[in-house]
Amino acid sequence: LVPRMQGFGETIFAEMSALAVRTGSINLGQGFPDTPGPAAMLDAAAEAVRAGDVQYPPGPGVPELREAVAAQRLQRYGLAYDPATEVFVTVGATEGIAASVLALAGPGDEVVVFEPYYDSYAAVIALAGAVRRPVLLRPSGGRFTFDPDELRAAVGPRTRLLLLNSPHNPAGTVFTREELETIADVVREHDLVAVTDEVYEYLTFDGTEHIPLATLDGMRERTVSVSSAGKTFSVTGWKTGWVTAPARYVRAVQTVKQFLTYAAAAPWQRAAAYALGSELAWVAELRASLEGKRDRLVSGLEAAGFTAYSPQGTYFVQADIRPLGFTDGRELARALPEKVGVVAIPTQVFYDHAEAGAHFLRFAFCKKDEVIDEAVERLSRLR
Ligand code: PMP
Ligand code: GLN
Repeated sequence: LVPRMQGFGETIFAEMSALAVRTGSINLGQGFPDTPGPAAMLDAAAEAVRAGDVQYPPGPGVPELREAVAAQRLQRYGLAYDPATEVFVTVGATEGIAASVLALAGPGDEVVVFEPYYDSYAAVIALAGAVRRPVLLRPSGGRFTFDPDELRAAVGPRTRLLLLNSPHNPAGTVFTREELETIADVVREHDLVAVTDEVYEYLTFDGTEHIPLATLDGMRERTVSVSSAGKTFSVTGWKTGWVTAPARYVRAVQTVKQFLTYAAAAPWQRAAAYALGSELAWVAELRASLEGKRDRLVSGLEAAGFTAYSPQGTYFVQADIRPLGFTDGRELARALPEKVGVVAIPTQVFYDHAEAGAHFLRFAFCKKDEVIDEAVERLSRLR
């Protein structure tokens, strides 16, 4: 293994899901729903296969999905993108983010990320030979946020990119307009490019609005936005994502993407195009149902003795383990299956400053109510 990838090992999701299978535990670790996406969407994929849609699709994606993505960005956010030159399809958001970082940050360039951060960010920044500059999200008033001075201090002459995930996994933060204005100021002032990971764009609660960074003044021209079908339509295994950006960035990112995978699988693209156009009512129901599950898990974790941070979006809860007398989340996550038969993610693996995240576990609530109830019941035996 090349030196720059040493230390990355196996992803925490693979490790913890394998542990769940091995021990027969309830898996509230890796974030994937235990109910599938809308039936007609599943049918659309099956129909595409039956109709013979089994050869390479166009590299940038099937036109109907690119058009559906452009229509969605316009209708939901007022952002206009040309489906022919400003939208393209990727193998999940993961590839969109990877191709963006590889296309826009080179050896020695710096990339600002908020920590904790989704695990692929660190790996792909390392693959690019670039350097990450983490800005800590800390609990304040029940949610995780950053200190604007620390953000400004993280930017230097070698900074090229700012990578923003909102709604944020694992912190659960949906960045407010004010926070986004602070971020946008920094991006504009230092002439950076922003790469936004918006995979949870529909999964926000209590009326909280997801505001794409690209909608702020002057930001459309310097933002590469990434999203995917996995979370929105509960099809995480389909790995169908997309990038929207001004044409010059699309050309750059597409140049990299075409040599990573050339194209994304065809049938899922057709089904995702159908769903973006026709299944947003289903998504609204999913969002409402997840809000109830969030409250169920948060109150259950609190009753079990954790301090739980109720997220404004995503399907994850950050839980502080210290009230139960534990201090090391990694140790507890490894012991939890044996102790009580539940799997969670030790959030510290998403931090550079591991001490800031040592005492958190991340629990997923995209699960049937009875699964959440049983997990909470088991966790209450930790006391
Ligand atoms: N970004 C974040 C913040 C995520 O939580 C995930 C997990 N699904 C991804 C990206 C990856 O999305 P995809 O499966 O579409 O590659
Ligand atoms: N996004 C999912 C999570 O945060 C997992 C994705 C993966 O397994 N790579 O749990």
